[in-house]
Amino acid sequence: MMNRHGRPSDAGPASAAAETATLLGHRGLDHEEPLLFELGHDGRVGVDLPPCPAVQGRLGDLARRGPIGLPSLSEPQVVRHYVRLSRKNYSIDAGLYPLGSCTMKHNPRLNEKLARLPGFADLHPLAPPSTTAGAVELMGQLAHWLLTLTGMAAIALSPKAGAHGELCGLMTIRAAHAAKGEGASRRRVLVPESAHGTNPATAAYCGFTVESIPATADGRVDRAVLEARLGPDVAAIMLTNPNTCGLFEREIIELARAVHAAGGYFYCDGANFNAIMGRVRPGDLGIDAMHINLHKTFSTPHGGGGPGAGPVVLSAALAPFAPLPLVVARGDGHALIETAEGEAAASFGRITAFHGQMGMFVRALAYMMSHGRDGLAQASGDAVLNANYILAALDDVMTAPFAGPCMHEALFDDHFLDGTGVTTLDFAKAMIDEGYHPMTMYFPLVVHGAMLIEPTESESKESLDNFIAVLRHLAAAAKAGEAERFKAAPRLAPRRRLDETLAARKPVLRWTPPTLSKAAE
Ligand SMILES: *Cc1c(COP(=O)(O)O)cnc(C)c1O
Repeated sequence: MMNRHGRPSDAGPASAAAETATLLGHRGLDHEEPLLFELGHDGRVGVDLPPCPAVQGRLGDLARRGPIGLPSLSEPQVVRHYVRLSRKNYSIDAGLYPLGSCTMKHNPRLNEKLARLPGFADLHPLAPPSTTAGAVELMGQLAHWLLTLTGMAAIALSPKAGAHGELCGLMTIRAAHAAKGEGASRRRVLVPESAHGTNPATAAYCGFTVESIPATADGRVDRAVLEARLGPDVAAIMLTNPNTCGLFEREIIELARAVHAAGGYFYCDGANFNAIMGRVRPGDLGIDAMHINLHKTFSTPHGGGGPGAGPVVLSAALAPFAPLPLVVARGDGHALIETAEGEAAASFGRITAFHGQMGMFVRALAYMMSHGRDGLAQASGDAVLNANYILAALDDVMTAPFAGPCMHEALFDDHFLDGTGVTTLDFAKAMIDEGYHPMTMYFPLVVHGAMLIEPTESESKESLDNFIAVLRHLAAAAKAGEAERFKAAPRLAPRRRLDETLAARKPVLRWTPPTLSKAAE
């Protein structure tokens, strides 16, 4: 069924849209929202400009012949359009956002206030260095505290996300091997099969051959297999700790020793640093390179609210190859090295045009300084406590593939749904009707029908109890044979189930005016 705007709406008895009288597709006060282009074409404008003076056109043949086709709208129409769209965006500010491996924690407003100070917000990356000493000092302070927390030797602040940090780390490792004359021979990177998809993708993008290492029955990387695969052609291992099953890799020190003995480097995916911050220093574990997601652990906004920032900390062995620009301590302050000279002579170059995401640096440092050493350790402790609370509270109604305690996220599989006709996807969709954004589904891949829940430290006990009560209710409903209810879910969302594969493979990115599409038919 198509609605008035020619987009698919929900069919069948589950559709609340079909029950509304206006046929406009509104659901309660949640308005169906057309595209700006569909909203107005009648010469309406939000400004009142004087008529254009008569000028002689000088474009000749190049002058546009038809109307430009921009939407014509009044100011209130535009305001309502964007406010309605913003209300369709679910966010951490609207409610619990339990996406595992994402660390969706509260972004304190203090961070925002500081990031908006004109001296930081209005900085231009090409401003003369004599006018940016304060910004460099802030970057130096942030670098100092990230190195202190991780126990590492050097840091590259410029990568713009976790995946970009991985690329930076592997490029540093590649440069280090090349400097030893082993660039051509060290071609393999070992990655556990539970790794975040960005790890093998990064290694492949960097030109390495990726080899997958299986997990043991207790959800950790199989050390015996990994050690057997090491050799003179291995450039690095990439390991996440805590791993994507929410578990601490207990044998990490032995793994580091083994990869170093084989002449390789140890890349650690540090996206889950929120679980260990202030408690374990990656440098003490033998790690050579690790990215930190400021937009996860240090409470700077993710994605659409972002951009992100993925600084990479490096061991002494890799430090000389770090990318430019480098922030270094000088006298009582800090300085930026922008060229591959002196102490930066072996740098692999630049990974991005300028210096990184200044707004994120300000937010992250504000978060660290307002928490202090004890506060950061408490944040990681509470994140782990909250995840274990969920794991324990659902233990009798859902099924966990690995014995607890867990770290910052609780992992369940779909065995508790066996024989119910309800899948992980149905279960997640039913959560939407109950007011909850679903957890991460079907990841990690090593677990059947995985449901990965990361509550973070910023949820209260009442909030967790409400969430747990809903999951307990849904698990009971599934076991009571209410499969139909799950198959029909979500009934209360603006759209039901979309063909996500089609949307990803064949995204409709261009709007065609109805007159043109009619003419083409
Ligand atoms: C989030 C995440 C990444 C990727 O970080 P982005 O900032 O999204 O690029 C990599 N690994 C793990 C384990 C993650 O959770």
